[in-house]
Amino acid sequence: MRLHPAALPEAGHVRLDVPGGSIEIPVLDARVAVIGSGAAGLNAAVHAAESGMDAATIVIITDEWGGGTSYNSGSDKQTYYKLSIAGEGTDSPIVMARDLFDGGSMHGDIALAEAAGSIEEFFHLVRIGVEFPRTELGMYPGYQTDNDTRQRATSVGPYTSREMVEALAREAARLGIGMLDGHVAMRILVDNKARATRVVGVACFKRGDHAGVRSPIKSSRDLAITIIRAPAVILATGGPANIYSRSAYPAAQRCSLGLGIEAGATMQNLPFMQYGIASSKFRWNLSGSFQQVIPSYWVKGESHDEKVELLHEWLPSVGDIAYQTFLKGYHWPFNPAKCNPGAINHSSIIDLAIHEVTIMQGKRVFMDFRMNPWDLLGAQFSVDDLPAEARGYLEASGAMQSSPIKRLEALNPFAIEVYADHGISLESEAIEVHVAAQHCNGGFTGDVNWESPRVRGLYPVGEANGSHGQHRPGGAALNAGQVGGLRAARHLASLVMVPSPPSLLDVEHVAQEQLVPVLARLHVGKAGGVGIACEVDTALAEIRHRMASAGGIVRSIEGLRKARDEAKVLVEKLDGIAIAVETREVLGEYLAARDAAITHHAILAAMAEQLANEPGVHPCYVVASEDGEAVRDIVGRQGSFSTIEKGTQNRLLETQVLGSRVEHAWIDARPVPDVKGSFEAALQRRRRD
Ligand SMILES: Cc1cc2nc3c(=O)[nH]c(=O)nc-3n(C[C@H](O)[C@H](O)[C@H](O)COP(=O)(O)OP(=O)(O)OC[C@H]3O[C@@H](n4cnc5c(N)ncnc54)[C@H](O)[C@@H]3O)c2cc1C
Repeated sequence: MRLHPAALPEAGHVRLDVPGGSIEIPVLDARVAVIGSGAAGLNAAVHAAESGMDAATIVIITDEWGGGTSYNSGSDKQTYYKLSIAGEGTDSPIVMARDLFDGGSMHGDIALAEAAGSIEEFFHLVRIGVEFPRTELGMYPGYQTDNDTRQRATSVGPYTSREMVEALAREAARLGIGMLDGHVAMRILVDNKARATRVVGVACFKRGDHAGVRSPIKSSRDLAITIIRAPAVILATGGPANIYSRSAYPAAQRCSLGLGIEAGATMQNLPFMQYGIASSKFRWNLSGSFQQVIPSYWVKGESHDEKVELLHEWLPSVGDIAYQTFLKGYHWPFNPAKCNPGAINHSSIIDLAIHEVTIMQGKRVFMDFRMNPWDLLGAQFSVDDLPAEARGYLEASGAMQSSPIKRLEALNPFAIEVYADHGISLESEAIEVHVAAQHCNGGFTGDVNWESPRVRGLYPVGEANGSHGQHRPGGAALNAGQVGGLRAARHLASLVMVPSPPSLLDVEHVAQEQLVPVLARLHVGKAGGVGIACEVDTALAEIRHRMASAGGIVRSIEGLRKARDEAKVLVEKLDGIAIAVETREVLGEYLAARDAAITHHAILAAMAEQLANEPGVHPCYVVASEDGEAVRDIVGRQGSFSTIEKGTQNRLLETQVLGSRVEHAWIDARPVPDVKGSFEAALQRRRRD
């Protein structure tokens, strides 16, 4: 299902002075410009129309219809988190909000908004056709996910977010919302002369028309730039997708956080990323049944077919390897609290082992469903020897077969199919794995309406919004993306005074100031040699390597400071070079690399600041005492594990980028609001509205 092309009214054009001439850019008018067509962006657009805004004035700008994480990623059982409405347990928005808040470094009012809106959004998805499982008598049962105190999780299977996108796209089409497909947002234009910085619109350029065919740029007219003048921009461009060399994000997804950074929006909680074991050739999250059937992990040795058992030096016995691998199924994200060999669950040691071998030693690790753990060492392993919890689960699932692939066939045949669909046979080959970045809990700061407090009219929603704290329950990302879109749309629809659009002359001034510095670096129509297009590839490789080695699950203060300083140099370098853009594809690649550079600089600076100021708080990484310390030495060193009590660490790190300078501020988390007497207040509010 595609949306029809947007037919926005033409406002006129602006003329910008660029070196060697001028460039004329058409200006179109919209009431709301949504950047991104993932689950969050589509939902925000749908709610804007449902809240009474004219669908013809809402536009979705997307670089690629069908791109993004929501449409292309999933897992064994991709989770959607919401208030529990099943079983015998008790749940309420306030209980759920406290659980979210206890994850640390999260504002309580945002937590309550996410909890309170979760049921409305869940049933919104149900109403538009997402078929969440329900019992014969109409109950929506749930299961317990990580960091969950109730059974709040649900799922439609491996592709929950894809099914959400499909349903939301059908709804957006039904409502008559149009899109600008193949359009890359390159700059959010803001008026920063007024007392509060305010959104003016978005500049975007049209990517090539046909996949695989380059679109030559012979003159600046061929840049195909359009400005959408809009008083509200919903930034739904997803997470920092392309900044890690080891990543579970879709390979083609760009990073666009630089759009908000350059508009002046504040960010928060950037150090808190989620990492876990994923396959690399086909990017897929290896949680759930992939681990529960207890495959073998091995390292590729020096000679062609040499395989070396990975875990025997990290975990004491074949029984422990098997049990920790099983536990990894439920406890997929890397968590330093699960690295303590003295604790029952120390399954995150597996991530550390993979990190050391792949990142520190540069070797390749494989997961093999044809072998049991320790087969390579000639040891005997039997599922009968597993602890009762694991054995009971496999028994109940009819998955007690002697090899992992047979157990997987019995437990979850889809897991085998999904790889077969991507040309990989788990029956006959091992899959290469690494510890991959999958989600950023941080992102842009938003208020309770998901509006940026620094840039009015800018609403970061979905993964671009950093509402989550140190830990979040599995599935909370999708819920937050839906609730954020609802709240942003309702806020926009409730505004009594919609700011009148700035005049074309004002748009021209803003574009001259904010867009021309980028355009001035482009040498259009010139072949390589004038600029250094190849530097773009080198820059991306450099960024990804730096993030994987300094900003992953093992961090050190020295390593982060060095990486941050190198990142700054790269940003300055990319801003200093002239770039020969022969085609619009090259322009896209340059802008993506520049965005990734700006973003990774901000993230590394925040990581260094956080580690220096909160050495005891490291929810998603362990701390190496000095740069280059062997990871194995960290295991067992108690100080490396995060031992923070729930809810005790309630500060947020805010980050603001000013040119090539990054500034930080520590903010106390706002508590979960008191809800006593809220009915009377809500009734009055209803009368007033
Ligand atoms: C492997 C994996 C498994 C996951 N599992 C879960 C899970 O079980 N539960 C959960 O809650 N979360 C999960 N997540 C996280 C969750 O899927 C994402 O956070 C969420 O889908 C992001 O949605 P979004 O709409 O914000 O962004 P996306 O879906 O990434 O959409 C971004 C959109 O912006 C567009 N775009 C980007 N830049 C530009 C630009 N400059 N111009 C125009 N368009 C642009 C893209 O094309 C895309 O349409 C998982 C993530 C991964 C990678």
